[in-house]
Amino acid sequence: MDLRQAAAHWPAWQASLFAQARALQHWHQRHRHCSACGASLEFRRAGWLGVCTGCNSEHYPRTDQAVIVAVGNGGRLLLGRQASWPKRRWSLVAGFVEPGETLEQTVAREVLEETGVRVRAGSARYLASQPWPFPGSLMLGFIAEAEADEPVAGDELEQARWFSAAEVRAGIDADWTRAHEDGEGIVLAPPISIARHVIRAWLAAHDATGASK
Ligand SMILES: [Zn+2]
Repeated sequence: MDLRQAAAHWPAWQASLFAQARALQHWHQRHRHCSACGASLEFRRAGWLGVCTGCNSEHYPRTDQAVIVAVGNGGRLLLGRQASWPKRRWSLVAGFVEPGETLEQTVAREVLEETGVRVRAGSARYLASQPWPFPGSLMLGFIAEAEADEPVAGDELEQARWFSAAEVRAGIDADWTRAHEDGEGIVLAPPISIARHVIRAWLAAHDATGASK
């Protein structure tokens, strides 16, 4: 069974432990040489430190930060889909943090690049994070408000559009195990994903404002 599927059935501590091991193993496989001088690395401290056998420099496993964001406007949620996905599958905008950026800037840039929608300044709010060891990312979940721009899919997406809260709720309530069969409505992220957690938080905030029309 694929680790991503298996993790959905494991207790949190077990999934967390396996994520850690998976990320460390990947780092060992992909960083066998010193990035400064090219000599071999020798792993110490139970594999958490790589010491160069040539120049003695120290190397540590890296984690790449990525944001994933529920972008709302007037009670609607912005979702996009990639051409390679099953046909009813939609998800939130996500992307890696670039050097020199704040997380809020990453949110605004990724949303603009992928959908052409402008995030309102100061509206991005951090919710929660999830390690994603495929191979070594940390997903940072945000909620943000945007201008009422008409979405236009960028290079990474096939389609991007606004969905009503009712459509999003139906997608969250749908039986995930039947998600890729033919049927009505949209299919959202898998049960253990931060994407699903962020979408639920967006729905709860939407309900709390009483704008559920
Ligand atoms: Zn070296």
